[in-house]
Amino acid sequence: MDTTWMADGNCAHHPPETFFPSDGVGVIEAQKICATCPVQALCLEYALRNRVEHGVWGGHSERSRRRLVRERNKAKTAV
Ligand code: SF4
Repeated sequence: MDTTWMADGNCAHHPPETFFPSDGVGVIEAQKICATCPVQALCLEYALRNRVEHGVWGGHSERSRRRLVRERNKAKTAV
């Protein structure tokens, strides 16, 4: 999967650890940065397809991405 979009992410201007928070407050801070990111959709799709387990990607926490994967899997089996 193409990853050239990563260079255009808002996170390119922040320390990497910002996106690997240790608590909910940190998650919210990362999500605020992701909220205005021009490549948010690509980032989220990358994380979902590659089953990235850690960090905030595409504005979604680890827990939120697990939920999205479950919903996608449910939708697939419903078809
Ligand atoms: S959505 Fe967030 S983690 Fe993804 S590229 Fe943008 S700023 Fe970085």
